[in-house]
Amino acid sequence: LRNDQLDQWDRENFFHPSTHLAQHARGESPSRIVTGGKGVYIEDRDGKTLLDAFAGLYCVNVGYGRTEIADAIAEQARELAYYHAYVGHGTEASITLAKMVLDRAPDHMSKVYFGLGGSDANETNVKLIWYYNNILGRPEKKKIVSRWRGYHGSGLVTGSLTGLKAFHDKFDLPLSQVVHTEAPCYYRRPDLAMSEADFVGHCAAELESLIEREGADTIAAFIGEPILGTGGIVPPPAGYWAAIQPILQKHDILLIADEVVTGFGRLGSMFGSDHYGLKPDIITIAKGLTSAYAPLSGSIVSDKVWKVLEQGTDENGPIGHGWTYSAHPIGAAAGVANLKLIDELGLVENAGRVGAYLNQAMADALAGHAHVGEVRGEGMLCAVELVEDKDKRAFFDPGRKIGMGVAAAMARSGVIARAMPQGDIIGFAPPLCLTEAEADRIVDVARAAVEEVLG
Ligand code: PLP
Repeated sequence: LRNDQLDQWDRENFFHPSTHLAQHARGESPSRIVTGGKGVYIEDRDGKTLLDAFAGLYCVNVGYGRTEIADAIAEQARELAYYHAYVGHGTEASITLAKMVLDRAPDHMSKVYFGLGGSDANETNVKLIWYYNNILGRPEKKKIVSRWRGYHGSGLVTGSLTGLKAFHDKFDLPLSQVVHTEAPCYYRRPDLAMSEADFVGHCAAELESLIEREGADTIAAFIGEPILGTGGIVPPPAGYWAAIQPILQKHDILLIADEVVTGFGRLGSMFGSDHYGLKPDIITIAKGLTSAYAPLSGSIVSDKVWKVLEQGTDENGPIGHGWTYSAHPIGAAAGVANLKLIDELGLVENAGRVGAYLNQAMADALAGHAHVGEVRGEGMLCAVELVEDKDKRAFFDPGRKIGMGVAAAMARSGVIARAMPQGDIIGFAPPLCLTEAEADRIVDVARAAVEEVLG
C-alpha cells in the first residue's frame, strides 16, 4: 500500500487507543507506521531505524525479532490454533506455562489464572477477592485501596484503580468501591523539608487514616505496583513497603502486587516482589510474560487465597468467571518460548547490571542540568523529571508540553523514549537485552534533546 493511502485509511477508520480527539479533529495526528524490529531497534515505513528505549509499552522484554518465539507461535498455530481452557480442558502449552510461572513465582503462590492483558487480569483479581470475602461470610469487605499515580488498566474497575485523572474524568469514575491513598513519590512530598523517612511515615499515616475513615471491615485489598510505572517511573522511598505491609496485615487487607511491568525481570529480579520484599496475596502479570509476542496475562493467587476459594466450589458450582481466550494456546506457546529465552540469555541478570549502568550514566549526564529535578529508576526502568525551577521544585506549565518536546527531539535523533502522562517526565524502559553501548546512545541522545529544548 502507498503511504498516502495508509494515512488516509488510518485517519478515516482507526480509533487508536489514547487518541487525542481534539488533535485528531484538527488533522494533527500522524501515525508512525512500524514495519519491523530486531533486538532493541524498530524500523518504520520510511526505512528509519529507531532504538526503542521503551520496549513498545515496556513489554518487548526479550527484544524484537526473536525467531524462537515466532517459531513456537507458528508451530502452535499449525498444530492447534485454539482450544479453550475451561475446566476439564487444557493444552500442553498452557499447562507447561502455568508450571513455569509458578516455578518462578514466590514460594507461597499457588495457582495462575490466565487472561489476555493487564487490565483484565486486575479485573479478575478484584472479582476473586470479592468471591473470597463472600465465601468468608463478610460481603461488606469489598473496597480496594489504590494509590494516586498507580496504573492498573483502563476498564471500569481497573480504570477506577488507576490513580490518574484522565482515566476518571468524563467516565464517571472511580466506582464507589475504589478509594485512593497517597502516591509514594518522594519528589512530590507535601513539604520539601520532609526527610525520606518522614515521608514514608506520612504515607503510612495516610493509609491508616483512610482505613479508619472507611472502616477496615469494608476494605478487601490494597493494590500497588512495586515501583510506580505509568504514574512517572517512581521507585518507592526506602522502607515504604516495610511500612505498608504490616498495616495491611493488621487490618486483614489483601495485597495485590501489580507486576505487569516488573514481572519477569525488569528490576533485575524475577519479580518486583522479590526485589522489594513484598509478600503479595495476588500477583498480576502480563507484558513480560510473553514479551508481547502474543497477548497473555495472569493472576497468580497465593496458597492463602486459593485455600479459601477452594471451599466455595461445592456449594456454588463452577466459579462464574471465564474468558473464551483464557490461556489461549498461541499466547501460552509464546510465553513458554519467552520464559525459556529469558533464562537462556540471562536477561534478568542483564536487566539488573545494564539497568544500573543506564541509571548511573543518565544521572551523570543529566542530574546537574538546571532543569532536571530528578533522575530516578531501578533496574531497566529510568526517568528524568524536568522542572522549571529546581530549587523551588516548580513544575513547568503543562501547556508548554516540555516533556513531549524532549521525547520528540529524541525520536528525531533515532531514540524512542516516552513522555509520561503525569508531568514533564521522560521515561525509559528498554528491552532487557540492552547493552552498555546502547545505553550510552540513549543517554547521549537524551542529553542532547534536553539541551535542545531547555538549553
Ligand atoms: N498494570 C500495570 C502496572 C500496567 O503498566 C498496565 C499497562 O501498562 C496494566 C496494568 C494494564 O495492562 P493492559 O494495557 O495490558 O491492559
